[in-house]
Amino acid sequence: MNTMHTPVDEETQKRETLELQQRMSEIHHKLLVLSGKGGVGKSTVAVNLAVALAKVGREVGLLDVDIHGPSVPKLIGLEGQTVRSDGVAVLPVRVANNLAVMSIGFLLASKADAVIWRGPLKYKVIRQFLKDVAWGRLDYLVIDCPPGTGDEPLSVVQLAGPNAEALIVTTPQQLSVSDVRRCVTFCKQVNLTVLGILENMSGFVCPQCGARIDLFKVGGGETLARETKVPFLGRIPFDPEIVISGDSGVPFADRDVAGPSLAALRAVVESLVNREGAVDQEARTEQIH
Ligand code: ADP
Repeated sequence: MNTMHTPVDEETQKRETLELQQRMSEIHHKLLVLSGKGGVGKSTVAVNLAVALAKVGREVGLLDVDIHGPSVPKLIGLEGQTVRSDGVAVLPVRVANNLAVMSIGFLLASKADAVIWRGPLKYKVIRQFLKDVAWGRLDYLVIDCPPGTGDEPLSVVQLAGPNAEALIVTTPQQLSVSDVRRCVTFCKQVNLTVLGILENMSGFVCPQCGARIDLFKVGGGETLARETKVPFLGRIPFDPEIVISGDSGVPFADRDVAGPSLAALRAVVESLVNREGAVDQEARTEQIH
């Protein structure tokens, strides 16, 4: 293996690292949305969290690093969109003045295209998503990671800087919960603060009578949060409105359909907003020391 680096290589690397740091320094909060396994509603949570944060006036970026199965474009009504460049940086797709989106899905010619990439290439593309996209100043960058603890979340952790945090989505069943345990361990190993665990598809609220029916065992996420000593962020019930939203590309956070799903999401947003001052103060203190 050739391990020689020319001075030009080193110069380029240094410059690119500085560019990345500069870009990341303009983003206050980087939230990785993780899950132990697929199909638990992680992308749905990521998209709706980004929309709900934008609705309370925050500058928000939504980055989809689910390279093998990008679903953000569909969930937010941006299928078929492509990205442009201003000659210097890649321009994210805007859904509102304060909400910009980037996904590998925008770079694929067809939604049937499959990406076959190994770790180093994934690292490179995620680096580009963070460094070369004109995110501007953001309050939040919500990052939808693929399920599990593979190359993508690891790359984001390595590239995004020290203040990234994780929100873990699970369904309440035992099987899903044991995968989440691995997720929490991963976060601890890479020093990623876990904001908390959100239990999705937790019970079903009858749209007719409002009664709650527990289709699966409820409370797995809460028990796990207690066991692993991370905050429990609440429960989003199984909600037919969410399926309709996902299929139609209109996030439920944008549809203002009152009910327990939106209430649970708003509670998460409220807890994030309430801790903003304290987190920023902590970051300032760290910079001084
Ligand atoms: P993941 O990112 O974990 O693979 P998705 O967010 O793509 O999961 O969601 C998988 C499917 O489940 C989608 O069809 C979505 O609309 C649906 N879904 C997600 N959360 C809920 C919920 N709380 N109630 C009903 N359907 C949901």
